Amino acid sequence: MELSTKAKITWCPGCPNATILVAYRNAITELVNEGKLNVENLVSAAGIGCHGKITDYLNTNTFEALHGRVVSSATGIKMANPNLNVVTFTGDGDSLSEGFTHLLHAAERNVGISVFLHNNETFALTTGQATFLSPKGFKGPSTPAGSVDEPMNPLHIMLAMGATFVARTYALNIPGTKNIMKAAMQHKGFAFVEIIQPCITYFDTREHYNSSTEWLPEDFPRTDLSAAINKVREIKEKTTLGIFYQVQKPTFEEKI
Ligand code: SF4
Repeated sequence: MELSTKAKITWCPGCPNATILVAYRNAITELVNEGKLNVENLVSAAGIGCHGKITDYLNTNTFEALHGRVVSSATGIKMANPNLNVVTFTGDGDSLSEGFTHLLHAAERNVGISVFLHNNETFALTTGQATFLSPKGFKGPSTPAGSVDEPMNPLHIMLAMGATFVARTYALNIPGTKNIMKAAMQHKGFAFVEIIQPCITYFDTREHYNSSTEWLPEDFPRTDLSAAINKVREIKEKTTLGIFYQVQKPTFEEKI
């Protein structure tokens, strides 16, 4: 199975988008080898932003959406053929600024798609403007004196909207990211994964995250919504990674 294409990689050399690509290819390979995925039934969709180039480098069915419209496009793909495994790549600019309401509705409806959000905390493709996930004080072309806003918490929002699978991982941890992708792709319902993805050109957070992440304990009560909300709202030195919440509920396509 060849999952690569001949397209030239045009991400900045060393960009962690590439490690997300590797983790995803590894996840597909393992799921196929385990008999859990038929690659002919896999659709990889992406929006606009640096993350969006990922579909150029994937030899799967792919779909490139307009800015902020990838989650609604993926919803349409899933509705047209519920047998497809639909994986949606997006960015903090793409789906938490431009296409925010599409993301909210897909979570609330429990559409059976996976959403992998590359969170680089900036609009990287357009040279580093602030997004709703940029930290307070973030300096870029649109906030030269520093952003005055506190960043949104995407996992808290997804839990509040009713997402049935909510997780976070770190792009430079390829095995950990691969495992979470596999779990999300096998989840029946709406799966949201925040992937912390430093932009090494406009907001290089590698030094911070390389030493300040920790995994949820194995015995974390993953079906307890209150526990998940409290955990994702925690403010502490280390950023927690792992699957915070996973439950089964009827999906949008089943209800339709
Ligand atoms: Fe990666 Fe940032 Fe370069 Fe975009 S601008 S390819 S996110 S390093």
